[in-house]
Amino acid sequence: MAQNKHPKYGFYEPERCWVGETHKICYSTKEEAELAARVAEYDHHMTTKLGVYKCEYGDHWHLTAA
Ligand SMILES: [Zn+2]
Repeated sequence: MAQNKHPKYGFYEPERCWVGETHKICYSTKEEAELAARVAEYDHHMTTKLGVYKCEYGDHWHLTAA
């Protein structure tokens, strides 16, 4: 019945990753990341397409402007 109010660090999958100098939002699926990319392109009136790639540090996806 007890709630875990103090999840142990290191066992909890973070929602963001540090990649180089910045942290990146993690998306659990490729479809979710691609949808977020389209939204970001629209919101920021971007002329370049955002891509998605699978993170090398965990089972999730990130956006990339490359
Ligand atoms: Zn990651």
